Amino acid sequence: MSQIILPGTTATGQQTTLGVMGGGQLGRMFVQAAQAMGYFTAVLDPDPASPAGLVSHFHVQTDYLDEQGLAQLMQRCAAITTEFENVPAPALYTLGAHCPVAPGASAVAVAQDRIKEKAHFERCGVPVAPYAVIAATEHLAAIVGADLFPGILKTARLGYDGKGQIRVNTCAELAAAWDALRQVPCVLEKMLPLAAECSVIVARGWNGDMVHFFPQLNLHRDGILAVTQVFEGNMTSATVERSVAAAKSIADDLQYVGVLCVEFFVLQDGSLVVNEMAPRPHNSGHYTLDACDVSQFDLQVRTLTGLPLVPPRQHSPAIMLNLLGDLWFDADGRPITPAWSEVLGLPGTHLHLYGKLQARKGRKMGHLNITGADVEAVRATAQRAAGLLGIPAF
Ligand code: ADP
Ligand code: MG
Repeated sequence: MSQIILPGTTATGQQTTLGVMGGGQLGRMFVQAAQAMGYFTAVLDPDPASPAGLVSHFHVQTDYLDEQGLAQLMQRCAAITTEFENVPAPALYTLGAHCPVAPGASAVAVAQDRIKEKAHFERCGVPVAPYAVIAATEHLAAIVGADLFPGILKTARLGYDGKGQIRVNTCAELAAAWDALRQVPCVLEKMLPLAAECSVIVARGWNGDMVHFFPQLNLHRDGILAVTQVFEGNMTSATVERSVAAAKSIADDLQYVGVLCVEFFVLQDGSLVVNEMAPRPHNSGHYTLDACDVSQFDLQVRTLTGLPLVPPRQHSPAIMLNLLGDLWFDADGRPITPAWSEVLGLPGTHLHLYGKLQARKGRKMGHLNITGADVEAVRATAQRAAGLLGIPAF
């Protein structure tokens, strides 16, 4: 892309509009960042009550592959991004033939498929967990003696928040698990002894410029991100250096344009293994909304439009608590309203709710960012907020 797409009204009196495929919370926060800068926004999502659709200037309510819907989006938009990795790659190819699309369809296609994704990581020289592809019955027999047990069988496509995964200890369990996953292409990954999990978010522009945020330390519960902690000293300097270098090489090698999050395992011996990547802003980067001078969503806007990428500066230690639908129910399963007023009475708490109309267990309803003068203060406030909301201590 050669021309910068500037915000505001064009010389011919048109409002410059940015589009996003997908209307979830990530799309909503992209839309809000774009609007703050003076862009109009358009969202394509079939759900009339989608979190992003509810706050966007335009909302195309069709399926992701609907030709008319895609045509409407292209007509309106100067450039288009995506907010979840399962947007069908063919839709992005269609859009990309007519207007700037970032990230591009080919990069998204790699992130959509664990088999392609692992091959890409290996090509970049970044270690992955020992694994084998299970895509045909004969692959099951080849596992014998491969030292992949205990392992996790993961579907190659469409898994998220721990869905599409089964833990297996023996060849017999593996065969049964593959049946349970309907024999779709999978990877069997060896279970590794994790000391911690972390992620790195980079933003790479059309011209190859790249900036990154400080690595996030992530706690998952039941396969879903629960808590992210970001401050100097949250992990060893070796882990910081290696994870940032790995994320940058993964983005560069893909000629990636946009915001990319790479997730890592830190093993008990201190070594680093890459887990997966998300071709978009990431749940572990939500703290950037309140703790940094540019957020991951601001950088998504800048990468898409060709605006300059400035290195983000984190001005406060930060902890993010994910607010899952579980918090909307008491111990007996009766609906309740979480203690927002008490939580917002604590200094340095920033509430973000996504406007989802119905709470369900495990559903991401919002997040709470906690900032403060020092790590101890932030941690103390975060634990108190967690206690008020019924989130287990961390
Ligand atoms: P998802 O796409 O659902 O996020 P992940 O592959 O990231 O799936 O797995 C979810 C979580 O399961 C990880 O964050 C980690 O806690 C755990 N996990 C996944 N793979 C392994 C592994 N090979 N060894 C140990 N823990 C793992
Ligand atoms: Mg994951």
